[in-house]
Amino acid sequence: LALAGCGRSNDTGSTPSASGSAAASGFPADALIGVALPQKTSENWVLAEGLFKDGLAAAGFKSDVQFANGGVSEQQNQIQAMVTKGAKVIVVGAIDGSQLGTQLKAAKDAGATVIAYDRLVKNTDAVDYYVAYDNFKVGELQGQALLDGMAKKKANGPYNIELFAGSPDDANAQVFFDGAMKILKPKIDDGTLKVVSGQKDFNQVVTQGWKAENAQKRMDTLLAAHYTSAPLDGVLSPNDTLARAIITSVKAAGKPIPIVTGQDSEVESVKSIMAGEQYSTINKDTRNLVKETIAMVTALQKGQTPTVNDTKSYNNGVKVVPANLLPPVIVTKENAAEAYANDPNLAPLTK
Ligand code: BGC
Repeated sequence: LALAGCGRSNDTGSTPSASGSAAASGFPADALIGVALPQKTSENWVLAEGLFKDGLAAAGFKSDVQFANGGVSEQQNQIQAMVTKGAKVIVVGAIDGSQLGTQLKAAKDAGATVIAYDRLVKNTDAVDYYVAYDNFKVGELQGQALLDGMAKKKANGPYNIELFAGSPDDANAQVFFDGAMKILKPKIDDGTLKVVSGQKDFNQVVTQGWKAENAQKRMDTLLAAHYTSAPLDGVLSPNDTLARAIITSVKAAGKPIPIVTGQDSEVESVKSIMAGEQYSTINKDTRNLVKETIAMVTALQKGQTPTVNDTKSYNNGVKVVPANLLPPVIVTKENAAEAYANDPNLAPLTK
């Protein structure tokens, strides 16, 4: 399965060595580190802002941490400004992974190292490393949770389902969807699952901008067109924000809540899971992802090569980007207390 430009190929690498191309002679211990975050489309990004500011300061660096709520051109300008100010590393969570080539090339030309954070940067060689939770695995866990949740309510299919994906400009969206479809497609093919609307292709099920209102509108339309009498057993949702929008739509239509998946362990979704509404989420602890990123920055500062654990999966269309991938964890009501035991914000919600 070759997915050049799609963000991930199917073979997981195990070679623990990086390309080493970016590890030069290090840089001053109090250097400026730029962190370009996207829009606040989910809680993980908001958490990342504070964690980067505090964590980079604690590690001795100066930081410039920016959100680009205005969109792609704002993010391009922010990255350009970080380069001008002399940032030694640019950490980038891209809004549109294909629109930063010019600015990141300027960063490379100025001698900075570029780390794609959470979302892959595509179609450019001006990216040195990728650090993220294993996105394909996230999708697989979501697909499996959908099957497990429906089987708990009704032992045998066929089950009626609908599919949602994230924003197509975010390289992760396709990878989440591909991971989920690896689990779901065989069940669609053998008739266990029926996508009643017939909308099964990524392009038919995307949610522009990861916006709740777009998912809610699409769910409203699907319910009105296909579920006036047929039951809806499950919905694949790529994250928590969209899961809650889907549940809102179902409730407004006066229908029973189907099994709905999610991702991010957002506070409102953990509450919803504990209340028996949303079925699952994914724990991708932002604290660990930021910690790993800062460890990579610290290695670069010392002139060392940052640790990576995957040198095969993330082809960005121009190069395979050496990746440091963390393991995501599926969370349902059953394991929530255990999954969030060391998270002071979420643990109290599971009591
Ligand atoms: C992140 C998800 C998040 C989504 C929307 C993705 O790139 O990996 O965790 O739900 O963006 O913000």
